[in-house]
Amino acid sequence: MNYDVLVIGGGASGMMTAGQVAARGKRVLLLEKNPTLGAKLSITGGGRCNITNAEQDEHKLLVHYGDAQPFLHSAFSQFGVRDTFRFFEERGLPLVEQAHKRVFPVSERAQDVVSVLKKYLHEGGVEIRCGATVEKIHVIDGTISGVSVNGQRLTANSYILATGGHSHPETGSTGDGFNWLSMLGHAVKAQTPTIVPLAVADAWVKGLAGTTLPAVRIVFYLDGVKKHALKGDILCTHFGLSGPLILNTASTVADLLHEGAVTAIIDLYPSEDIGAFDNRIIAVFDANKNKTLKNVWNEIAPLGTQHALMPLLKGIDPDSKVNSITKEQRRMIVDLLKTLPVSITGLMGYERAVIADGGLSLEEVDMRTMRSKKYENLFVTGDLLHISRPSGGYSLQLCWTTGFVAGKNA
Ligand SMILES: Cc1cc2nc3c(=O)[nH]c(=O)nc-3n(C[C@H](O)[C@H](O)[C@H](O)COP(=O)(O)OP(=O)(O)OC[C@H]3O[C@@H](n4cnc5c(N)ncnc54)[C@H](O)[C@@H]3O)c2cc1C
Repeated sequence: MNYDVLVIGGGASGMMTAGQVAARGKRVLLLEKNPTLGAKLSITGGGRCNITNAEQDEHKLLVHYGDAQPFLHSAFSQFGVRDTFRFFEERGLPLVEQAHKRVFPVSERAQDVVSVLKKYLHEGGVEIRCGATVEKIHVIDGTISGVSVNGQRLTANSYILATGGHSHPETGSTGDGFNWLSMLGHAVKAQTPTIVPLAVADAWVKGLAGTTLPAVRIVFYLDGVKKHALKGDILCTHFGLSGPLILNTASTVADLLHEGAVTAIIDLYPSEDIGAFDNRIIAVFDANKNKTLKNVWNEIAPLGTQHALMPLLKGIDPDSKVNSITKEQRRMIVDLLKTLPVSITGLMGYERAVIADGGLSLEEVDMRTMRSKKYENLFVTGDLLHISRPSGGYSLQLCWTTGFVAGKNA
């Protein structure tokens, strides 16, 4: 069977691109190695799917893609944020903008996004084969001539690679596309996890697993020298620190880790200086003279931190009456809550990463069509492209944009 277009990878960009090819009346086959489509898409945004970013000013939006910005204007003019809204809302999935311009389906169900795309594929008549692992790409005379799937050879006029990156490999994204692109002679930048939680040595962080420390300030130090400060919410996990604030700073921390030892200090109450914070503690102690420290902890520290943080106050018994706490001991409490120490041991690996940097160099792709500059009948989408970006819906928007453009041109 000869197809017009063969799409390899049934993730976000693969589904968008296959549907778009079919909408042009082409005969298209979508190959996905998992038993179902959109495994990674269904876990995005913690299962809520941050589907795009609501920044409508294209220039401001593209700044977030760093060095890739100049390459993206044409593709985004063909399918930008407004088109994403229109595409999903016209198909019965209303979207809503939340904090920091993050956009989610109103239903807050990533699975609903997968369902819309599946319906799009079925309505367009896309032939779908799940459980189909592409093992090899064949080339004859500088043209892609076919792929091997489970021992069978399949051919098409054009091929779209949409096999994704390396993050969360259990979803099927095991980096196969990078190997094929390298084998085809393309320049592929080595991948490193970028939007990824930080691993830490400190037991107190692990003791707070699942707790969000709200509106804190974190300052990173390289060999004791202050380098980088941020304010926002931090999520403690059983392996380290996470949440959007941390995820978006991971690549900066990775650079520091190459140079030396990285530590951090967390100020749980950045809006109060030491004097004001101390006065607040004095007022709480005065109002609760006969209570124990552990019984007033939630009034002076974030909720749920007692069991993990109080053991760090060496020499202070949690059962001490607050009226017996000395000025020096109170000062220890202030220091702990305003300069909570963390030792960063590294970045978590691909298994916890949202995005890995690296991929096909944009110099080697005609970004107006997503066509390889080396192979006339090869197109590339999504996480396979070397485009750095923060979390906030920018990755999926890239999938919709590059998927649409490749699908329009393949
Ligand atoms: C936990 C997590 C949360 C995220 N949340 C968000 C978010 O809220 N917002 C956002 O913008 N981005 C988010 N991202 C990033 C976003 O999910 C990715 O950028 C996006 O899924 C990439 O889509 P893709 O089409 O390039 O590849 P993928 O979605 O990775 O799909 C690739 C597909 O190709 C298949 N495949 C691989 N090799 C083969 C082969 N040899 N043969 C056949 N099929 C193959 C895989 O099984 C997979 O289904 C998140 C990522 C993670 C890991």
